[in-house]
This record gives sequence, structure tokens and C-alpha cells, in this order.
Amino acid sequence: MTAITETETVVEFRGVGKRFGAMQALSNINLSVKRGEVVIILGPSGSGKSTLCRCINRLEVIDEGHILIDGKEQPLEGRKLYKFRTEVGMVFQSFNLFSHKSILDNITMAPRKILGIDKKSAEARAHELLTLVGIGNKASSRPAQLSGGQKQRAAIARALAMEPKVLLFDEPTSALDPESTREVLATMRNLAENGTTMVVVTHEMSFARAFADRIVFMADGQIVEMADPESFFTSPTSDRAKSFLSSVH
Ligand code: ADP
Ligand code: MG
Repeated sequence: MTAITETETVVEFRGVGKRFGAMQALSNINLSVKRGEVVIILGPSGSGKSTLCRCINRLEVIDEGHILIDGKEQPLEGRKLYKFRTEVGMVFQSFNLFSHKSILDNITMAPRKILGIDKKSAEARAHELLTLVGIGNKASSRPAQLSGGQKQRAAIARALAMEPKVLLFDEPTSALDPESTREVLATMRNLAENGTTMVVVTHEMSFARAFADRIVFMADGQIVEMADPESFFTSPTSDRAKSFLSSVH
């Protein structure tokens, strides 16, 4: 039955370390994300949250340990790395949409070019995804015509169009106003409830408390606590987590 156990874990960090020069950005990270799980990463600024996310799709190259995706080592370079990156979707604080292209083109570009999906199928899927994220009427708009919340939802649709095994969110709402933040969190809640495997860095504590399956709390490049949200928010065990929580509440 080992085959089944292996496919249950989508992302696995084994003793991962990452340095920037003399700065140890990540130390001995051990973490596994199961299929359908929502893991929310909390921690003060500079604690290594973004670096941890970026290592998952090899935007950063690790110095120690291993990261396995669906039980396999990340490919190091070339076409395999290119293909691998499509398996890990990433949504950033800045939306990274192509401003001179329509929302529809933004979403269909990678599925057509990288996955080789024909135009008609890619567009049909893009329309479904835009409806899913609540902006079904924006397909022909340019990014500049959308609100921040709409742009971020378009970025989520674009990531989903690649049918990723896991979706990473790095502070997806921190550049947004309250209304846009609510829209994007509602979309993320839908994804979470539909079984999307997600790793989310956020400062939205009420979202974390309500929708995380697991909270990972980081400080100084280390995982200091890992717990279910109720335990983490009601009885954090480390001084670092206690002072973090008192600073954000
Ligand atoms: P967080 O997302 O939790 O705020 P980061 O992962 O961005 O933290 O950063 C962790 C540490 O690594 C910080 O000290 C940051 O300054 C450093 N760092 C991140 N990226 C780089 C980089 N490209 N070059 C040098 N140092 C970096
Ligand atoms: Mg960050």
C-alpha cells in the first residue's frame, strides 16, 4: 500500500536549508502537505515564509535537504524544470498579469504554449474558471480595467488553468483594499472547500483560523510551531508565537 501513501503527500520538505550569502533564510525545514490540505504559514516579516514558498517551485534553489513533489525530486533544469513549474501554481501579492493582453489571453497563454491545449478548449476552460472566481464577465477586459480584487482573482484563474497539484499563495491580499480582500478570501475559501491543495502565506488571521487545516508558524527561518488552528490560536506553546499573536490581534 505504499503507493497510495506516497500519492497522499503532495509536497514534502526533508531537512531543507537555504542561505543567502551568510544569512540562513531557512534551517532544517521538515513539512509535508497532504492532498486537499490547506496549510497556512504565519510568522513575522523576514521569518522565511516567502522563501519557503519560492523553494517549492524552485524559484529559489535549496542548499540542503530535499523537496519532493508527489514523491519525486524536483528536476534541476531544462525542459523538465519548465514542465515541473506548471505543476505548482503560484499567486503573488502583485498580480503579474500581462497588461497588454486580455484576461482571456492571460489565462489561455500558458495552457496553450506549455501544455499544448488547443485554443478552443483553453478558452472554454478559461471561461469556466473566470465564472468560478466570480468574474465571468471580464474575459475581454484588460488588467487595467479591473479592480485589485478582480485582478487577483484573474491571477488565481490563470494559476488554476494549469491544473496544478498545489497552489501557493504569498500574501495574496496584502496589496488590496478591504472589499477586494473579502472577494479574494471568498474565492480562496471556495477553493479550500473544493479540496484544492493550498499553501498560503497570509496575515489574515480570521481566514487562517477558519480555513487552515494546519498552521505553520515560522520565526528566524525555522518552523517553530505546527498545529491545528484552534490549538495554535488558543494555546500557542512558544514565546515567539505568543508575542506574534499578541502583536496581530
Ligand atoms: P518573509 O516572507 O517571512 O518576510 P523572506 O522569505 O522574504 O521572509 O526572507 C527571509 C530572509 O531572507 C530575510 O532576512 C530576507 O531579507 C532574506 N532574503 C530573502 N530573499 C533574499 C534574496 N534574494 N537575497 C538576499 N536575502 C534574501
Ligand atoms: Mg514574504
